Amino acid sequence: MSVFSASRAIAPSATATFAVDAPRATRRRAPPRSTRRVVAPRASAAEGGGDATTTTTTPPEPPRGSGDRQKAIVVGGGVGGLGMASRLAHAGYDVTILEKNPDVGGRCRSESFGPADGPDGFRFDTGPSLMLLPDRYREQFTAVGKKLEDYMDITRVDPAYRAHFGDHTTLDLLYDTEKMRKQLDDVEFGAGGRYIDWLGRARASLDYGVAAFIERDANSILDFVDLSRVGPLALAMAKYFKDERLRALFSYQELYVGLSPYNAPGVFSLLAATELTDGVWYPTGGFDQVRGSLQKLADEEGAETRVNAGVAAILTEPLDASTRASEVPGSKATRRVVGVRLENGETIDADVVVANPDLPCVWEQLIDHEEFPEAKREAERWEDAEYSCSVIEFNFCLDVVIPDLLHHNVFLSGDYKGSWERPCCVDDFAAPRQHNFYCHNPVYTDKTCAPEGKSSVMILFPVANMNEQAKMCKKRGIPVPEEADMVNAAREAIFRRFKEAGHGDLAAHVEHESVTTPSEWKQKFNIKHGAVFGLSHGLTQLAAFRPPVRTGIAPLDSPECDGLHFVGASTRPGNGVPLVLMGVKVVYDAIIAQHGVGAKAKAKAM
Ligand SMILES: Cc1cc2nc3c(=O)[nH]c(=O)nc-3n(C[C@H](O)[C@H](O)[C@H](O)COP(=O)(O)OP(=O)(O)OC[C@H]3O[C@@H](n4cnc5c(N)ncnc54)[C@H](O)[C@@H]3O)c2cc1C
Repeated sequence: MSVFSASRAIAPSATATFAVDAPRATRRRAPPRSTRRVVAPRASAAEGGGDATTTTTTPPEPPRGSGDRQKAIVVGGGVGGLGMASRLAHAGYDVTILEKNPDVGGRCRSESFGPADGPDGFRFDTGPSLMLLPDRYREQFTAVGKKLEDYMDITRVDPAYRAHFGDHTTLDLLYDTEKMRKQLDDVEFGAGGRYIDWLGRARASLDYGVAAFIERDANSILDFVDLSRVGPLALAMAKYFKDERLRALFSYQELYVGLSPYNAPGVFSLLAATELTDGVWYPTGGFDQVRGSLQKLADEEGAETRVNAGVAAILTEPLDASTRASEVPGSKATRRVVGVRLENGETIDADVVVANPDLPCVWEQLIDHEEFPEAKREAERWEDAEYSCSVIEFNFCLDVVIPDLLHHNVFLSGDYKGSWERPCCVDDFAAPRQHNFYCHNPVYTDKTCAPEGKSSVMILFPVANMNEQAKMCKKRGIPVPEEADMVNAAREAIFRRFKEAGHGDLAAHVEHESVTTPSEWKQKFNIKHGAVFGLSHGLTQLAAFRPPVRTGIAPLDSPECDGLHFVGASTRPGNGVPLVLMGVKVVYDAIIAQHGVGAKAKAKAM
């Protein structure tokens, strides 16, 4: 047992695994494809089904590297990049993933920290830990003819999570509606019945939301506006529950997409509905199973992965000077993509480039602003947009198991409204203020996370993102604090809350800790302003208004460039692994519609 002091140095292990200026790209050639597939000729997909009937025999897929396939480069190996790579490779493209870090997965990963690795080690999911909408994960596998269950085991976490309220009472989120009704009635007379009504409507919001602006990739404001669903969530919740604990409980999920109940449209009650209907799931062995499985799928489909391969620029050229017109129906593009340049100077040609880094960073860093002035305009447009919070993440290796923690826990402040103001300076953590934070305690479900009798507890403490922090400090006339001081203050606030809630002195049980700060999130994964959940999902940045490409209001449209596509948390539909995977499907369909399958147009002539 070690005694923890506020001045204790932050363990360097969190950053040690990442080489930011990695010297050399490392190639990993995927094993050859084991099965041969027949691909439709390019014309059939590119031209919306066009002349497919004239082809009586479909040609065999051209071998990889033969020059007869279209080349696709996927910049970034996050879940978006990995998902896209396996789908495109499956469609016959020669695919190369270029990832700046020493491994793929991006924010989605598990890491081991602590006094020792192996059986004495402590494993943490340092990014996603709640698997929501498992069918969206499954789709990624079925899209390439595989089955998720052959790659990982997933189990439903029951109860979904425990809410720890500011008055130190708790309530467990149960899938059993009748049990939920009873316990809510104990908190507030009649709340149980209203919960059932709310759940039905929230579930409808979920189905509506997915159908209206995710699967359809709404391109016009008219596709999206339904005034009954765009009022603030806080108002919607107030209609159902008077008790602020219940309002907090059913709107806390807004944090996942960088909103608060005061600026989240009512349609976002879909997040809570997801947890209570589809359930909260856990990939046995942690989210590294998701990362590893998506990588394996891409390997099996024949995609090549190069790590330590940071991309410095996405290369474009003007479209044919005589016509200046794009071949893509409806496109306003005046340029087309031709490849990428790596940080080491190497250039690689491509027919299609899919950019997976945080979208504002793509416009800001990866596209030449002189050649492509619209990219500069786009970078400026997103510079000061609304971003999600950042988080200070604590990974605590504890020498005990805390009995009152379930697998997933949310600590909710007694100050329902005030708690949504994101801390930006040390004073914002001071007692007696309470905060909302999330606590992951996977040893509850999976004993392999920590040595026997011990536990690996991860806390996500939401704070202002770096841009917001600078602005708020300026407004208050104070200097931006040192990050280490913010970390110490947040840690103290956590320990204080645990003690007040009767969980004892956490500090006394920390064997080792690893912390990730906003600037480290920014640097590790190239995330704008260190806003870990990307561009926020307020009304003006949702659906058609979320980049790219068209909004239905021409001056707000994003620039177009033939062959350049985007996937990831800051583009459509939004943040979270299942949403990013849904985005992969939408963009994949667009690529096939615009560029055809991987076999080059030569196949069309056959
Ligand atoms: C702390 C935390 C908790 C979360 N919890 C959940 C959760 O419980 N459930 C859930 O569903 N979601 C959760 N999320 C959100 C989820 O992790 C993300 O939405 C998702 O992983 C984003 O995937 P992505 O592919 O868009 O981006 P990323 O994961 O950011 O991947 C982009 C990749 O591009 C690489 N890259 C950047 N620039 C370059 C360059 N120039 N050249 C080459 N490569 C580059 C990056 O290194 C990275 O690997 C959480 C996120 C965080 C940070």
